[in-house]
Amino acid sequence: MSDGIAKVCVIGAGTMGAGIAAQVANAGVPVLLLDIVRDPADRNAVAAGAVAKMLKTEPAPFMSKAAARLVEVGNIEDDLARVAECDWIVEAIVERIDLKQALYEKIEAVRRPGTAVSSNTSTIPLAHLTEGRSEAFARDFLITHFFNPPRYMRLLEIVSAPQTDAALVARVADFADRRMGKTIVHAKDTPGFIANRVGTFWIQAAINAAFELGLTVEEADAIAGKPMGVPKTGVFGLVDLVGIDLMPHLQKSLTGTLAKDDPYQAISAIPPLIERMIADGYTGRKGKGGFYRLNREAGKRKEAIDLTTGDYRPVVTPASLPGAAAKGDLGALLSVTGKVGAYAWAILGATLSYAASLVPEAADDVVAVDTAMKLGYNWTYGPFELIDKIGAAKLAERLAAEGMPVPPILTLAGERSFYRVEDGNRQFLGLDGNYHDVARPEGVTLLADVKLTSKPLVKTGSAALWDVGDGVAALEFTGKMNALDGEVMKAIGLAIPIVAEKFKALVIYNEGSNFSAGANLGLAMFALNIAAWGEIDKLVAGGQEAYKALKYAPFPVVSAPFGMALGGGCEILLNSDAIQAHAETYTGLVECGVGLVPGWGGCGEMIDRMRQAPGMPKGPMPAVAKVFETVSTATVSKSAAQAKEIGFLRTSDGITMNRDRLLADAKAKALSLVDGYQPPKPPEFRLPGASGRTALDMAVKGFQSRGLATDYDGVVSGYLADVLTGGEADLVDTVTEADLLALERKAFAKLVRDPRTQARIEHILDTGKSLRN
Ligand code: NAD
Repeated sequence: MSDGIAKVCVIGAGTMGAGIAAQVANAGVPVLLLDIVRDPADRNAVAAGAVAKMLKTEPAPFMSKAAARLVEVGNIEDDLARVAECDWIVEAIVERIDLKQALYEKIEAVRRPGTAVSSNTSTIPLAHLTEGRSEAFARDFLITHFFNPPRYMRLLEIVSAPQTDAALVARVADFADRRMGKTIVHAKDTPGFIANRVGTFWIQAAINAAFELGLTVEEADAIAGKPMGVPKTGVFGLVDLVGIDLMPHLQKSLTGTLAKDDPYQAISAIPPLIERMIADGYTGRKGKGGFYRLNREAGKRKEAIDLTTGDYRPVVTPASLPGAAAKGDLGALLSVTGKVGAYAWAILGATLSYAASLVPEAADDVVAVDTAMKLGYNWTYGPFELIDKIGAAKLAERLAAEGMPVPPILTLAGERSFYRVEDGNRQFLGLDGNYHDVARPEGVTLLADVKLTSKPLVKTGSAALWDVGDGVAALEFTGKMNALDGEVMKAIGLAIPIVAEKFKALVIYNEGSNFSAGANLGLAMFALNIAAWGEIDKLVAGGQEAYKALKYAPFPVVSAPFGMALGGGCEILLNSDAIQAHAETYTGLVECGVGLVPGWGGCGEMIDRMRQAPGMPKGPMPAVAKVFETVSTATVSKSAAQAKEIGFLRTSDGITMNRDRLLADAKAKALSLVDGYQPPKPPEFRLPGASGRTALDMAVKGFQSRGLATDYDGVVSGYLADVLTGGEADLVDTVTEADLLALERKAFAKLVRDPRTQARIEHILDTGKSLRN
């Protein structure tokens, strides 16, 4: 389907508008960003300032500098008529109905009929926004509610009215899905839509209960966070992050628009301590502090606020929860005696029954509510999935026993669960009392779904091979953090003959939190501690062998990274025929950071890529110097687009904006390579040899003299330089891929035996941070 959206206008260059504009630009689509004229001498200053600010913001709203260049700035006095150039106009100005309505009146006079106009409002009903506008305008008008920050939050709630043109809504939804990477949840035109309605209730219920039951903020967050599948910030930590001062805004708008008997009304009062905190500037991380703070005067001591006195005191780690309760068994959590169980019930009983009461008022089905909470609030499980963990009947029974209303949908479920798997299909319970398949958007293939209907073709301790349809197999990493070890290499060895015999192509793909954190350093450290050098050398050689076997396999191999793809996780990409990356791919050869060099063929593959990179000067040195710079500094891309700029991805590699479409896109890429597929020929290199080595050494000395590299960085870089320049080779010699692999092994073996490298590995395992020794 063509979305027909070639240019977008965003009006309002604040937090949301600027971020939405950036994400449109990240999709490669030009965008006009307008705001008011604040300074008559510099009429575009507001929008221009917003773009300039975004270029300095971390995490970055833009995926690349090229994307930033797609944003054109202007102002609504001089440039509003230019909305006629755009196919979608997004309004993201301040949350005031009078200003929004006045703006729509002006837009109506200049827009092209049939172009979509949407509001990013969080709270104003659609019916009010279009008051006074023509029928034609109302037909093209919808609400597109993005979440902050728009690049990183995957949820987009779309609200339309009966008069809205369904085809136009579908076009905007398709654009937001495929091009901007959002997951669309259709919400009804009710206050707060879905995610904020449930989310605000949940936060308020959790905060109130902590006060009432006398819990500390640490105790509360330890219960409301991880055990419930909620980010470990819990609730107080989350409010600190988003800003405590947001609470009264949301509270005011929701109490003003929700029905008087809505359960939120009864719990919505902001506790006096929190009002005082806001008034005194204690608004969370952006303010003087929040429920938590780092006390810089006391050596960055982590402190928490005492909810009874309002004074800060050092953070106290709460007693750990009993095993099952800590691990997400909600039944066990609810039955812990004392404050813990009582607090868990206060949150879950109220929040889950509230969420359950919103179908069908605010959402068509349970899937919409669950998706909204998972993607809008980063919950691991949606409310109905949480109810299934407790048992709908058990929840209903306890609600009734405590005199709380039982939502009709819980009664409808009775002894049944909201989700089930039937004949390999994931199904949800509909309001008609029947189960229906959970529909995936067209073109979405998920390994999780494949797993419901099939068994792996190969399974080792750290990887599995699946038939993902259309003649394509998928290799999945399954270890902790998808780390790579001998079991992954073994799976590759087992997979190749199967794929060669029964499939057309292979994709390397998984649905963990990250593609791969790289080689399993924990295992390496264990081997180091017992000086099992043979094991370590075997891991390096075995990895090289497995990766090259993939590279030269008689079928196309496409890697589909997302999130982190580091070290060995990056090298597997480099050894693939092609890459189809999720837009949020953070990849790099980070080995030098732990005192090593890439050992699974990364050095040769990077030189080969760089020497073919567009604009790379001829001769052996420029490509090698570029690889050296990238690898010695452990450069990691902050997006797939940037990975292309750095050179990890080739220009021909693909980028998928929507995470759910990655597998389908990777499959399509792999299948496109099948016809006439020939494995690549092993590359040969002309490398700069000793003179190049000297040049690289001088560069490192320069870094060291400016304090940018430590002594040991110099040693590690020296080994890297040795590999990249071809070791003992002379400029006239031809260096084969096998020679380079041997050089990698030699450098790796030397470095891994150095206590300073071992200290770096140990440090990163202990602290997650690099040691600059
Ligand atoms: P903001 O205050 O950061 O930015 C608003 C921008 O609109 C400012 O740059 C302001 O100069 C501009 N503006 C005001 N009147 C204007 C007009 N008449 N014409 C053009 N520009 C005008 O606000 P925000 O947080 O980005 O919120 C924008 C919208 O998005 C609101 O409707 C809000 O409810 C909604 N929203 C906000 C969030 C969030 O987390 N901040 C999340 C979802 C939705």
